[in-house]
Amino acid sequence: MNQPNLNQGNDIALKLRTVGLRATGARVAILESLATDRRHPTAEMVHETLRQRFPSLSMSTVYATIDSLLEHGLIRQVSGRSGRLRVDGTPLDHDHAVCRSCGDVFDIDPRVIDRPAQPLELANGLRVVNMSIEYEVVCRDCGGK
Ligand SMILES: [Zn+2]
Ligand SMILES: [Zn+2]
Repeated sequence: MNQPNLNQGNDIALKLRTVGLRATGARVAILESLATDRRHPTAEMVHETLRQRFPSLSMSTVYATIDSLLEHGLIRQVSGRSGRLRVDGTPLDHDHAVCRSCGDVFDIDPRVIDRPAQPLELANGLRVVNMSIEYEVVCRDCGGK
């Protein structure tokens, strides 16, 4: 893992405060780790990654922190196979393709395939704040082409 750098830490603290969250150690550490983690990790993987640096970080804190980061839109949820929560905290704008067989998650650059424009509103007064596309795919390993 790269050395945490101070600037990034400050940016992350600022991000947290912008959405009204206090910049606790666990929130900063998890958000910082997710910003560069391209694996679309589960909560367990996040815990495993941070355990060395933060031995006192408990699994329940990781779950609770991920919940609040999701709730405030700082990270995204990716549906995994068997309903297992996987998250994405990279700041890059991208879509996902999930293999229906092995559950692997692939990043899709939205500039490669045309995406429909994001509507401002849907029926029943639903205001759109974000849009992402998730493709269901069969990956190469699982018999795709
Ligand atoms: Zn697969
Ligand atoms: Zn992703």
